[in-house]
Amino acid sequence: MPRILDGAVIAAAIKQEVAEEVKLLAARDVQPGLAAVLVGNVAASEIYVRSKVQACADLGIYSELITPPETVTTEEMLETIASLNAREEIDGILVQLPLPAHVDTKALLDAVSPAKDVDGFHPVNAGRLLAGRSALVPCTPAGVIEILKRSGIPIAGRHAVVVGRSDIVGKPVAMLLLHENATVTICHSKTRDLGEITRQADILVAAIGRPGFITPEMIKPGATIVDVGINRITDRAEFDRFFLGNAKREAAFAKRGSVVVGDVDPMAFELAEAYTPVPGGVGLLTIAMLMANTVRAAKMRRELPRRGL
Ligand code: NDP
Repeated sequence: MPRILDGAVIAAAIKQEVAEEVKLLAARDVQPGLAAVLVGNVAASEIYVRSKVQACADLGIYSELITPPETVTTEEMLETIASLNAREEIDGILVQLPLPAHVDTKALLDAVSPAKDVDGFHPVNAGRLLAGRSALVPCTPAGVIEILKRSGIPIAGRHAVVVGRSDIVGKPVAMLLLHENATVTICHSKTRDLGEITRQADILVAAIGRPGFITPEMIKPGATIVDVGINRITDRAEFDRFFLGNAKREAAFAKRGSVVVGDVDPMAFELAEAYTPVPGGVGLLTIAMLMANTVRAAKMRRELPRRGL
């Protein structure tokens, strides 16, 4: 039976460590602070941001939610970010994506001070990560490494294949695996004979954004599979392809008219030695790592020593 790498358990352990760090900082009169900027009324973004704000409250981190209207201009957003950059009590700034099409996303992400860039998207932090220097690392890739390490999955010397090369997931996760001494192959939409490569993976990270794209034939038996994908499916035929006969998923589909599936076909997990489920895997680590980054940013800005997280 493959081992399930339970994101909830690992996320809870990290949050516990963050809460302890927050207490230690309180003894020095420091309270880490996170500002979340949420533009407009995208339902999914609202849910994400509210869970981030709630996590701050749970762990003793100060938070502020800034909600400019959908009509906000790039210039107005740049002013908001400049004022957050200047505020002493704000250690982390997150701009929830996606932004409306008329707003220049790159300009805004570049405007966030690298010292407060808790999403790790600023080119300075991307460069530091590449150079193996201490950096604020993007949360989802950092979560992938935490899952592997805390589950005792060896990384050094193993062949890690990352499918996906986005700046947010694929590239940073590949770089982190390289820093952990894996032999890393990065694949993307132009990769030839993808299955040939994924079948060589001791650790396979799927960050593609296509439901069930990695099929059982693409897996080496005994591999560790990390499924970063979060895809909501509403189509009955697609549901049947992945979950026919799965009573729990059937009930969820009947209730909500949709279910979430990762980038890996659930049948492929059967061949793995260990895998992260969707939901309940990597997704749960993202907020925990955001909290960890906020505390890290608070310490780095004050030049306090970093322990553990
Ligand atoms: P992007 O769309 O930015 O990147 C997808 C990557 O997959 C691209 O590099 C693309 O290649 C590659 N790809 C697409 N089709 C194929 C194909 N047929 N064969 C091989 N590679 C392919 O997505 P993200 O990186 O932002 O997200 C990936 C997944 O992770 C999504 O499901 C997303 O929902 C999920 N996600 C989950 C998070 C969480 O757990 N909290 C956070 C962020 C993302 P190319 O570059 O050539 O186009």
